[in-house]
Formats: sequence, C-alpha cells, structure tokens
Amino acid sequence: MTLARISRENNKIKLIQGGKSKSIKERCELFDKLSNNMDGDIIAFDNDQVHTLYSEASGLSALLVTSKCNNKCIMCPQEEFEDNLDSDFVVEVIKLLDKKTTNITLTGGEPTYSTKDFLNILSAIAKYHKSSSIEVLSNGVKLSNDDFVESIHKTAHNPIFWGIPLYGSNPQTHNKIVGTDTFFNTLKGIYNLWKRKYEIEIRFVIMKPSINEIIPLSEFIFRNLPFVSHVAFMGLEMMHSAMINWEKLHTYPDEYVNSLRVALNYLSRREINCSVYNIPLCYLTPDLWTYARKSISPWKRYYYEECASCKMKSECGGVFESNKSLDKKYITPIM
Ligand code: SF4
Repeated sequence: MTLARISRENNKIKLIQGGKSKSIKERCELFDKLSNNMDGDIIAFDNDQVHTLYSEASGLSALLVTSKCNNKCIMCPQEEFEDNLDSDFVVEVIKLLDKKTTNITLTGGEPTYSTKDFLNILSAIAKYHKSSSIEVLSNGVKLSNDDFVESIHKTAHNPIFWGIPLYGSNPQTHNKIVGTDTFFNTLKGIYNLWKRKYEIEIRFVIMKPSINEIIPLSEFIFRNLPFVSHVAFMGLEMMHSAMINWEKLHTYPDEYVNSLRVALNYLSRREINCSVYNIPLCYLTPDLWTYARKSISPWKRYYYEECASCKMKSECGGVFESNKSLDKKYITPIM
C-alpha cells in the first residue's frame, strides 16, 4: 500500500511521500477534482482502490487505530475488519500529518486494545507532533490498569483529552449495553486518569435501554465524578450494530427531552459543563439550544429539503445521513 499526503501549493497538487509515480499523481489530481479540495488529506493506494485515511477538510480527522474492541456494545457503529491495522501503519500516517496539526484524535474499535500498539502510536505523536493535543475515544476498560496509565503518562507529553462512555449509574444498565462486565473497570480507569490530571469527557448515548438513566447518571456524575471536564449526551448513529438493533434502540425526542432538560440543568447548576451532540435543534426545546453542538462531521451530516426554510439551519448540526429515514418524523423547520 502506498501512502501520500496531498498538499496544494499555488493551486497545484503536490504529493508528500509516495508521489514519485506519475500514475499516483494523476489519480490524486482526479480524486482532488472530484472531492473539490483535498489539501492536507492523507490517502492510501491499495491496488485499484483509493482510501482517504485522514481529511481535515471533510471532517474525517480521526485516526482509526484498530477496529478490534474488548467491549461488544449493542449500538457499536464500527464494524470489525478481518485484516486489522497495525500500529506501524498508523505511525506512517502520523509522520505524514501536517506539522501544523493541532489535534490528533485516536479512535477505534478500542484504541488501547493492544498496549504495545497504543504506546507506539503515542510515542510517534510525541516525537513528530510535540505541540499537538491528543483526543482518545476509549471505553476506559484497560485504563483500570494503573501501570498502563502510568506508561501512557510517561510516553506522551502531549495533553490528552479522554472521551469515555458511561451508559448508566449502575453496573446492570451499563454492562447490558456494552456486552461485558466492565462498569467498575471503566470507573477505575476514569479515576486513574484523574489521578494524572487528564481532562475527561463522559459520553452518554441516548437510546431506549439508557433513556431511564439520563437523570440518575447526571446525579451519579456529580456525586462520584465531579472532576470531569465535560458530559456529552449524544444522539445515536445508525450504523453497523445500531442499524441491526435499531428497533431495540431508536427513540424519539418526546421520550427523552424532559429528562435531558433535568439532567443538563442539574449538571450546569453544579458547574459541570455539558452538551448535546448529534441531535437537531428542532428535536429540542429552545431552552436547550444553548447546549446543542454541531457535532456531526460534515461528510456524515444530512439536512432534509424542509431544512431550507429553517431560520436555525446555520446553527443546527442536522442528522446523521445514516439516520435520515428514521429521524424525519419530528423534523420541523423553525420559523
Ligand atoms: S428543520 Fe432542519 S435545519 Fe432546522 S432545526 Fe430541524 S434539522 Fe435543523
């Protein structure tokens, strides 16, 4: 597989690494024309296939470390590949990232799945992108091992922001959703991160099995995890397992908005920052708009025809493209 970073100089495509072959350069130029702008993108050529691995412009700016995971979440949007990635390949991508990159997001699968690979990747970021911050989307389970967290702390001197999911205030609800008996490991992982003063975001996905936990979880966070920097209440992306299980998972705003209001007000009054991700403004009442973020990556974001007349369209993050047939019911342009 050949890797290359596309760079535009004087409106001409320049390839950094992998650009010696004329045919690759021609294919990049064609690809760039089709996508409109690929400046800064990292692409891989694999026989007849071209893959975008990293794209600032399209919002695909997270690196997939592995598709493997030690949890089996009922709504996981990521399919596990047979040919898995190895960290040497991810390191090659990291080396190619623009030196001006300010944040590198590591996702999976579970990015910490292989201790050795994860530390290898952190070490490469520390070496090639000293001033970049790192965001890791992890289930926190392996972070229950304090020695592992200490190794992370020693390897990466970059600031790391951890996004860790908790789907309930009790092990029964959380474990049922993640498919493993790991509630307490995840909590221990969060405490191990806190000991090293890392910034932590708790991520909660709103779906049928977790809906009754919106308020209890916010109280649990205030009582047990008041040090977290942020709590994100997130709409569900209907991909892979979520799509397979959608009847068990999908929920509409009138089933959760009242609880969401209680939870957001409860946390904000206690000075815990909180937001709503992946939910369009017309699903929320105006008093909750202040919490809503345009969190869906532009390449996954969808607006309906009706949205053209909505006065809040520029502030609204729309819905996931993959959810468009399920989410239409409550779409109401704001006039
Ligand atoms: S009508 Fe469309 S643009 Fe307006 S709030 Fe709803 S989803 Fe967003």
